[in-house]
Amino acid sequence: MSRIDSITTQRLDIALRQPITMSTGTVSRQNILLVRLRDTDGAEGVGEALVMGGPYWGQETIEGVRAVVERHLAPLLIGQSTSSVGAISRQLPRWVRGNAAARSAVEMAMLDLVGHRSGLPVSALLGGAVRSRIPVAWTLSTGSVETDIAEGERAAAAHGFTRFKLKFGHEAPRADVSRAHAIARHFAGRATIIADVNQGWDEQTAIQMLPRLVDAGLEALEQPLPAHALAAAAELQRRFGLRFIADEAVDGPASVLRLAQAKAAAALSLKPNRDGGLIATRDAAIIAAAAGIQLYGGSMLETSLGTAANLHCYATAPDLSLGCELFGPMRLGEDIATTPVSIEQGHLTLEDTLPGLGVSLDEEKIAFLAARSG
Ligand code: MG
Repeated sequence: MSRIDSITTQRLDIALRQPITMSTGTVSRQNILLVRLRDTDGAEGVGEALVMGGPYWGQETIEGVRAVVERHLAPLLIGQSTSSVGAISRQLPRWVRGNAAARSAVEMAMLDLVGHRSGLPVSALLGGAVRSRIPVAWTLSTGSVETDIAEGERAAAAHGFTRFKLKFGHEAPRADVSRAHAIARHFAGRATIIADVNQGWDEQTAIQMLPRLVDAGLEALEQPLPAHALAAAAELQRRFGLRFIADEAVDGPASVLRLAQAKAAAALSLKPNRDGGLIATRDAAIIAAAAGIQLYGGSMLETSLGTAANLHCYATAPDLSLGCELFGPMRLGEDIATTPVSIEQGHLTLEDTLPGLGVSLDEEKIAFLAARSG
């Protein structure tokens, strides 16, 4: 039986090809912490934690993630058996409260390592894939109707996207809603539209904006209200009949139970980096599906490594009615895989013929990025 022998980290800062503006601010740089686990037999697994520029979308910083992994988790993990990733995964939140991205990266590395040892893909370790192709939405976030439509047309022609996600927060709510209306009208019959408010509205603003969004024929509206406003979300969703996707309101399986009890969201966005790992997100998906909540495979702008990890997880979800948004590698200026994942005909395909996450890392590129990032 092998044991965890070493844990090392590398920080990689990667600029976005084009900044993404949302209600919490503009993200132009992604902070990534690569976590490598080696066992006493020399097998390796790699995971990544993501912080979009700083403690804006969530509470973590990349400096904090690194400190939690190196100073608090590594001393406890070294010497642990690699035979039960599930047991260690459940121990992680007892060792460190919160700090979901740090826990997620460590668990991802463990699953990758156990996959390499066993010869199994991570999807099999999570219970097995029930789908291999997942449709991908593309974000339109240039800030104007004309350029968003031009970008949507370009992306649809090049990659076959049939679902777009608009980020609100560029402008005042009324202007954001007008932009959504114009874009939805332009793509009517060819693509559906989801808008993401990132908690940017209060209840009164939502009451004023929702009738026009319903009129625009939006497919869904993501996290219009603050994460804690479950009763208001339930009331507005029922009153206006527009499907809400919960995102910032989710932080793992127990939060899904709260959402289901409050009837606060018809759908929710899966995100291992937010939930504390692939196993927590898998469990969240099972609870959501049992409660009749639809699923959307979320993204924190992962590299090809994190994208593959999420794909393994989302492929096991009982439901994935709204597809996913795993476009991270296409938004980041640089990638760390020798063969980056690619979106074809609007879909990502699970690579499950290789063990672990099935990603071959470009070590030269990683060393260059790590030296540059500090
Ligand atoms: Mg969101």
